[in-house]
Amino acid sequence: MVDLNGQYQEIKEKVNDSLTTILETSAFINGPDVKAFQKELEAYLGVKHVIPCANGTDALQIAMMGLGLKPGDEVITADFTFAATVEVIALLQLTPVLVDVYPDTFNIDIQAIEKAITSKTKAIVPVHLFGQCANMDAINELAEKHNLFVIEDNAQAIGANYTSKNGSKQKAGTIGHVGSTSFFPSKNLGCYGDGGAIFTNDDDLAHTLRGMVNHGMYKRYHHDVIGVNSRLDSIQAAVLRAKLPHLDAYCSSRRNAARKYNLAFKDQDHIVTPKTVNGCEGICDSCDCHVFHQYTLKITNGKRDALAEYLKEKEIPFGIYYPIPLHRQKAYLDDRYNEEDFPVTNQLIKEVISLPMHTELDDEQINYITKAVIDFVND
Ligand SMILES: *Cc1c(COP(=O)(O)O)cnc(C)c1O
Repeated sequence: MVDLNGQYQEIKEKVNDSLTTILETSAFINGPDVKAFQKELEAYLGVKHVIPCANGTDALQIAMMGLGLKPGDEVITADFTFAATVEVIALLQLTPVLVDVYPDTFNIDIQAIEKAITSKTKAIVPVHLFGQCANMDAINELAEKHNLFVIEDNAQAIGANYTSKNGSKQKAGTIGHVGSTSFFPSKNLGCYGDGGAIFTNDDDLAHTLRGMVNHGMYKRYHHDVIGVNSRLDSIQAAVLRAKLPHLDAYCSSRRNAARKYNLAFKDQDHIVTPKTVNGCEGICDSCDCHVFHQYTLKITNGKRDALAEYLKEKEIPFGIYYPIPLHRQKAYLDDRYNEEDFPVTNQLIKEVISLPMHTELDDEQINYITKAVIDFVND
């Protein structure tokens, strides 16, 4: 599904030099690379504050802690996402409120959010699934109207741009009150272990968050709030510093691969290619709204599972994201959920399949993969 070695070869010298310096100076925690990466990512994203932390799950949790969410507060998020999003909501004893998504972009459904808002709702967590922003204009409008926080789970869309109705362009993760991301190795900006970060333009919140990631300490050995231990280590920061200047090029390579996949599948009756919205129709050459963390097809003739078996036989990697909706996961079962509230997610779990997507895909690989998929689905 991913090929990380090609990227490494490109930045090898820089990474190896930085790692040697870290090993020789023993600056493993809070070394100069961490602060430098923070500043560089702030500049790249055009956001006032980046707070590095240990992983994307922590980033979400700490964002919710920093906003002062309290047990019993309701937090609305998508039913069709990775479990980390709902996990931290539940862990903080907040009440997760799962809602359905759109069938074309896989992102959270605005009307479903609106329907789910109650007097206890405190936040909306849009997940920019597979590399493309949810409808942030509509989400921010709803949030303003109902006085809610917007926490963007941007683990899959770092580098994506979002063009608002008014024409302004912002980076994914910097559009709500606070955003989170993950630097897990297979994410679009991945380190060589675990890593994450929180973004915000709010000075007070940033201050709160910086202490929270470090045991609630704002002055050495003075613990003002309950915090956690969640740090990005120097080695990961050094890797990210080497990769960040290439992030836009990584995004372009992914889009190029997606464009080639789309072209190959365009006349197929039973294969639905991913839709890009937010400022463009289809994947035009200048499109920068989708960074294709995943390239996800829908197989509409009931052959998804059989296709998966076939790809396995042919040793073509694939992924099914996500096979079980969160509302049906044992840990998150709740009488509040009704199956009829999730028609889209319940259908998507039967139809979606993600194909190999990374920065090193070449034409030969894409042709081989697309031919196998088309031959099988039409057989
Ligand atoms: C990867 C991911 C996370 C969690 O990131 P980690 O760094 O693995 O903790 C959270 N949300 C989404 C949508 C993700 O894809």
